[in-house]
Amino acid sequence: MNCVYLKANREKSLLKRHCWVYSGAIARVDGQLENGSTVKVCDQHGNFLAWAAISPSSQLALRVWSFDENELIDQDFFAEKLRQAYQLRKALNIPQSTSAWRLCASEADGLPGVTIDVYNNFAVILLTSAGADYHRQEIIQALQQLQTWDGIYERSDAAVRKYEKLLPRTGTVAGIAPPELLTINEDGRQFYVDIANGHKSGFYCDQRESRNMVQRYAVDKEVLNLFSYTGGFGVAAALGGAKHVLNVDCSAPALAMAQKNFELNGIAPERFENIEADGFSFLRKCRGEKRYFDLIVLDPPKLVDSMRNMNKGCRAYKDAMLQAFHILKKGGLLFTFSCSGLVTRELFEKIAADAACDAKCDARITALLGQGSDHVVSTAFPEARYLKGLMIMRCN
Ligand code: SAH
Repeated sequence: MNCVYLKANREKSLLKRHCWVYSGAIARVDGQLENGSTVKVCDQHGNFLAWAAISPSSQLALRVWSFDENELIDQDFFAEKLRQAYQLRKALNIPQSTSAWRLCASEADGLPGVTIDVYNNFAVILLTSAGADYHRQEIIQALQQLQTWDGIYERSDAAVRKYEKLLPRTGTVAGIAPPELLTINEDGRQFYVDIANGHKSGFYCDQRESRNMVQRYAVDKEVLNLFSYTGGFGVAAALGGAKHVLNVDCSAPALAMAQKNFELNGIAPERFENIEADGFSFLRKCRGEKRYFDLIVLDPPKLVDSMRNMNKGCRAYKDAMLQAFHILKKGGLLFTFSCSGLVTRELFEKIAADAACDAKCDARITALLGQGSDHVVSTAFPEARYLKGLMIMRCN
């Protein structure tokens, strides 16, 4: 068995059941290291710490499968982990009216690099680590054991795969191919999802609960939905009784789908508009034109993707919020989000405070928002809470 020995005192995170080890913590390696294969991780004295998948080319060199020395990382292991993940989602009582949910949330479900989203009766798997890719067949088989799916589709095309020396892989892996546009339900809202070509697995089902909040507060409001993608928050606002919704995104295909989604939900054409534009420039343009809104949603892409980009990304978050405060009416609501795992909630609140201060407005945080409960967070892996949101009221 291949064995990896850590440097002195570098076992601390594993003792806290955190599942990542960086390459700098490794002292030496015994054996041949095939990309993604399972190795025994030991402290400097040779005491067992964990079984982990190794990614020899990645900074994130080890991702733990198990802290139990007697565990075998085999078909049964993956079947049991996925069964636990599935049971947990069943226990969460996701309403019948919701057919888009996350079945497996990578590290948070004990399966680093394995994300599985469900849309109706289709499962979409996204494998992002060498270890997950190495056990691909076992994972697909374990998924098939859970229930009968119409089809399983793979979207292992995330850019991060390159750090693991993995090529992109997409396509139907079992059952039938999903239709070009699948209609899903989300707490009474309907959306078309393009599993093969959409972002990630096709839809941002992590924003379900925040969309419910927007829907609850949208009545009679002029709404700006910035970084709208396929119109998720916009549809929620319109169904909540918004006077008018303006969706802005830089992606024409996303906006074409937003148009379809508004029609699907029976929203009259005079109640919405889709504009293809850069979000940051659009905010400035509105300010120049003295165009104001009662409710603004800011859900930009991940602006901080590494520590190296921390300052630049935080400045962009602040700029978006500052410009949004400038065009938010008094008494208006800002729903602002960061999906950057590296930006903590405290930091995000500080950025919001700086933006409100520079805009010279008094603002109140009226709710803390985040990913739905199916996007679980494990106690040992707080990094899983990547999505942070704030509902802020502008008071003057
Ligand atoms: N709020 C959406 C998800 C947003 S994902 C939902 O609920 O489904 C982020 C979106 O920002 C993507 O659709 C992407 O096309 C868009 N985007 C990225 N950079 C942008 C920019 N500079 N200006 C406008 N849109 C941008």
